[in-house]
Amino acid sequence: MVQDSIRILQAQGYKATKPRKLVFEVLEGIGRPLSPYDIQDILRARGKHLNHVTIYRTLDLLCSLNLAHKVLSSGRFVKCSLAAIEGCHRFMICQQCGAIREFADKQLCQEENDFARNLGFHTEHHFSEFSGLCSQCYSK
Ligand SMILES: [Zn+2]
Ligand SMILES: [Zn+2]
Ligand SMILES: [Zn+2]
Repeated sequence: MVQDSIRILQAQGYKATKPRKLVFEVLEGIGRPLSPYDIQDILRARGKHLNHVTIYRTLDLLCSLNLAHKVLSSGRFVKCSLAAIEGCHRFMICQQCGAIREFADKQLCQEENDFARNLGFHTEHHFSEFSGLCSQCYSK
């Protein structure tokens, strides 16, 4: 999976530098949203060191290529789990256990575009996050 992301990176003309690989590996392996500080701590525990500027720049790049996303409500970063699925990638986040589920829905986008157009607005992208309970927490 890290290999897939690296291929996408290279296809866009970016080098698979060591910091990029390291940040990828952390996001991929942990699977939950992480702050740049979390990423630095995890790397440190593995005997690697990256400074904050490098981590921020790397995350910016990964986000701009849709390989990762910033979770708006927490400011943390998570690896994209939808790979090349087109459209706006959105999240449902459990407020109890922190489970995060990414989804994309063209019909939802269309409805939002229509809604905006009625207000005279031309939409290019939608950001949204759902907050609530995952099915496991809900059934407890
Ligand atoms: Zn995504
Ligand atoms: Zn939950
Ligand atoms: Zn959309």
